[in-house]
Amino acid sequence: MITKILIANRGEIACRIMRTARKMGIATVAVYSEADAGALHVEMADEAVLIGPAQASESYLKGDAILDAAKRTGADAIHPGYGFLSENPGFVDQVEKAGLIFIGPSAKAIRAMGLKDAAKALMEKANVPVVPGYHGEAQELVVLAGKANEIGFPVLIKARAGGGGKGMRKVDNQADFPAALSSARREAKASFGDDRVLVEKYVTTPRHIEIQVFGDSHGNAVHLFERDCSAQRRHQKVIEEAPAPGMPDDMRAAMGAAAVQAAKAINYAGAGTVEFIVDASEGLKADRFWFMEMNTRLQVEHPVTEMITGLDLVEWQIRVAAGEALPLTQDQLSINGHAVEARIYAEDAGKGFLPAVGRLMHLQFPDGDIRVDAGVRTGDEITPFYDPMIAKMIAHGQTRAEALDKLAGALGRTEIAGTVTNTAFLVKLCRDADFAAARLDTGLIERNIESLTEVAVAPDYIVALAAVAASGMVPGYGNAADVAGAIGPFEIWGMPKRWVPLEINGEARSFAIERAGTRDWRVTGDALAAGRIDLEAVSVHGHDWAFSAGGVARRCRLANAEDSVTVFYQGLTHGFGKPRGKRDDDIGGGGDQVVSAMPGIVKQVLVEAGQTVKSGEAMVIMEAMKMEMTLSAPRDGVVAEVLVAVGAQVADGVRLVTLQVEAEAA
Ligand code: ADP
Repeated sequence: MITKILIANRGEIACRIMRTARKMGIATVAVYSEADAGALHVEMADEAVLIGPAQASESYLKGDAILDAAKRTGADAIHPGYGFLSENPGFVDQVEKAGLIFIGPSAKAIRAMGLKDAAKALMEKANVPVVPGYHGEAQELVVLAGKANEIGFPVLIKARAGGGGKGMRKVDNQADFPAALSSARREAKASFGDDRVLVEKYVTTPRHIEIQVFGDSHGNAVHLFERDCSAQRRHQKVIEEAPAPGMPDDMRAAMGAAAVQAAKAINYAGAGTVEFIVDASEGLKADRFWFMEMNTRLQVEHPVTEMITGLDLVEWQIRVAAGEALPLTQDQLSINGHAVEARIYAEDAGKGFLPAVGRLMHLQFPDGDIRVDAGVRTGDEITPFYDPMIAKMIAHGQTRAEALDKLAGALGRTEIAGTVTNTAFLVKLCRDADFAAARLDTGLIERNIESLTEVAVAPDYIVALAAVAASGMVPGYGNAADVAGAIGPFEIWGMPKRWVPLEINGEARSFAIERAGTRDWRVTGDALAAGRIDLEAVSVHGHDWAFSAGGVARRCRLANAEDSVTVFYQGLTHGFGKPRGKRDDDIGGGGDQVVSAMPGIVKQVLVEAGQTVKSGEAMVIMEAMKMEMTLSAPRDGVVAEVLVAVGAQVADGVRLVTLQVEAEAA
């Protein structure tokens, strides 16, 4: 019996698990870091325990602190979610030693699948088709290069301890092999502390199709059909769906059987996913799929499986962990319709998908027939400490087209202000001709990246409306004193007129705003394509704005925050900054300073005041989410001041180091 579950995770997955626990009458305990004190998962739980500082290594990855929290609250089981400690066999041992139930597979099963090479060897033995390649012990260049030749180019070098696409290199010919090998090794060493690799045949026209499996402690195992995760960017999943478009019955049966075989080979109990790579060069064929790896946990994309099977996978996990048999047999399982999931991230698709942070000043998901798994609410902050996923949005339809339409529509009606998100990119992907026609392979996004990441230019009337909203001149709306104090109102020809600064794509622009009657406005500014525009009959009710421009009545939603105005119009989000005070003088690089190019955490400071540096010399290393960036000296010079310390969390455009001005230095 499980009566109280501690969830060793945060964000949407912690909330997701709590919903099921509550439904089953099970009490919940949240653990949280200092950065998450006000987080949704903490609010949702029956009890919550602070386990450490923001850095995951000091909190969500601290097995001891988590076990201590379980002891203090009397939890009898621990659900690890995904990521963090979910695939850490040492933690499973610790949990069991403490007499608690780990809601997940055995430590032994996790170990068996933990390294790609060992897992592949095991699967070969169990007669599961494995990608042709070399996953032996030898690591010398000559051996690996020889194996690559035997396999035939192109090949893929993979870190055996790999994950998240790290330590992976596609090599097209022999000449490129040595360099690719050393760079894959370097990355593997840095990411996993293990530089051993394997070499695989690179499958052409690859599709990523994975099978959800479930086992119990009574020796039963079933599969819950497939998910297609071929829509990837840099080997990371962007949109997932179930079932896989164009999947023939015989191939589904063969993949399902292979996955169940894989699970049975390691006496698997709980939820797991067997990932296959599929050669789709001639459509889907029952003899063209190969085992890549098994993920021994619940996956981010599990909701699409839930939507087509009508099952609650977390409930199954809890029942299996409590010792029950699987609720259904294979022939009781069936597929209903089609489901698609999109991952909404705080990232700037227009700037190479740079991760973003920020406070979610406004957050509203659309009502209707759409599932939203979120771990944040209005006012919450996306920090650089954790994955910048804001929510998952999942649509179900009787057909793929219906599900995709619903998803695109819901993404377009999603209102997020305070950070930049990838929703416009996701909508475009849903509507991409190749994707919509299911001409899928893992290269689809990269091939169409330009059109998918094109930034929409806001029409004049939207820019003008943002300026009007920011002006503080709309009766009964916003804080009129705000702008009046900063800019100073003045009148020409008896009409109130005000200058309003607005930041558009990071550039400061200004607008003259005149009121012509209580509900009519004239906006002038060189940022407007036409130079000037009249907005008529402007009215505001909460976030709903109505106005008329060029004889057309229009409606939009608008979020007016202290430092930004965000307009949601016809499925697009247009963000504008409100420049304040001296900020303009403070930021912006130039020859005398090093400025953060993205929000993040300072990992290393390599210089000190008074030190002489050469142009291009590394000064500061920053990290944000999954990216590391080295900031170097803009010119030869002497360091005047170091303004940040290791561990500091800095915003975008903050000065980190200044150089002495030339005259001073001389
Ligand atoms: P990681 O564990 O780092 O995520 P995976 O082995 O799961 O690495 O592979 C990630 C992605 O890389 C797959 O989803 C697929 O798109 C691509 N990939 C992996 N192996 C192959 C292969 N042999 N041929 C072509 N693409 C591959």
